[in-house]
Amino acid sequence: VNADSGTPTIFDKIIAKEISSTIVYEDEKVLAFRDINPQAPVHVLIIPKLRDGLTMLGKVSVYHCYFSRLKNSPIAEARHGEILSHLLYTAKIVAEKEGILDGFRVVINNGPDACQSVYHLHLHVLGGRQMKWPPG
Ligand code: 5GP
Repeated sequence: VNADSGTPTIFDKIIAKEISSTIVYEDEKVLAFRDINPQAPVHVLIIPKLRDGLTMLGKVSVYHCYFSRLKNSPIAEARHGEILSHLLYTAKIVAEKEGILDGFRVVINNGPDACQSVYHLHLHVLGGRQMKWPPG
């Protein structure tokens, strides 16, 4: 973990394979694995292996930054464009592999109000059942 990558999270241990996970897809840049608490028949998380500042997409409020460890959380910058697009492309690969192309949802929970719990940027890929909208 380098100085620019924020506070280590459980996902760093999953990348290092210190904690086991069910891997669905992996390449040199991203890891996709099944969520431990699935919210749909298919629920896969896609994360960048090199966090490099990607704790989240956008910064949270001054209040949250001041009172929590998020104060020093780096966020997505223009230089992250390539990995951000690769994460999204991987969602398609995962949806194909999981057979959910008839309908799937890609979610990023950004910040406390969106119920982000792990501050290592990740995409949720959900499918295998009828989704509701709005999600609530
Ligand atoms: P967030 O709420 O931050 O958007 O999503 C974090 C997700 O990570 C949650 O859906 C949670 O179930 C999942 N998660 C947390 N810890 C682990 C773990 O150790 N292994 C796996 N596979 N998923 C985890």
